[in-house]
Amino acid sequence: MSNIQEKREALGQGLQQFLTYCDQAEALITSKEVTPSPQMDFSSLIDEILPLPLDKDAPEGATMKQLQRMVPECTRCPLCETRTHTVFGEGALPARLLIIGEGPGSNEDATGRAFVGKAGQYLDTWLAPVGLSRKTNVYLANIVKCRPPENRNPHTDEVFSCLPFVKRQIQLVKPELILLVGGVASKALLNTDEGVGKLRGRFHRYEGVPVLVTYHPAAVLRNEELKRPVWEDIKKVAAFLNLTLQGKSK
Ligand code: SF4
Repeated sequence: MSNIQEKREALGQGLQQFLTYCDQAEALITSKEVTPSPQMDFSSLIDEILPLPLDKDAPEGATMKQLQRMVPECTRCPLCETRTHTVFGEGALPARLLIIGEGPGSNEDATGRAFVGKAGQYLDTWLAPVGLSRKTNVYLANIVKCRPPENRNPHTDEVFSCLPFVKRQIQLVKPELILLVGGVASKALLNTDEGVGKLRGRFHRYEGVPVLVTYHPAAVLRNEELKRPVWEDIKKVAAFLNLTLQGKSK
């Protein structure tokens, strides 16, 4: 076992031992019998304190900074050949809401920033009425980090190649809720062939995190009839996060 692995294991045992000492101290101070603390999962804390060394083939265990350095180097799928910039994702950390779309468009590819084109600006207008914003409590990311040529949907193998980055991003952002916008994101993370129309309106889970699904802002810009269902979905997000609607009635 590597030195770093040994240190990580020792740190985990030490943290658990610390809880035991706390139990004993509480019992001494209160002179009451104290229920022993359960075995805890300290993996996120251990990742922060003693991250595994940077390995561009292993996003698992990477810190956010390491992940941010890995993505621009990535050549896991053919999308690396046509990208101008990788688009890692951006927003507030910690975030209450993580929004995941399908992939960068031309503006995102040109700037390296997530959701900065017309659709991204439109997405901001969904969030503001319920007190959500990428500046304060929302993180934005995509299923693939490189723009598919001509804005086509990413192919299954491209999604599969990029998934470890998204998966690690979810673990690091630690959102209370994930909102998947569009069919590519929802199919990839919910492992389903059902469309957005069937998936929206109810809660799903991804690795224990609650998930809602709605239409992609680009699709809503093309089809006004999707505005009302999207607003219903945003109200559901707000209710889950205990946020107050700020003066929008429909
Ligand atoms: Fe790597 Fe993802 Fe870009 Fe493919 S889309 S090259 S997997 S970062």
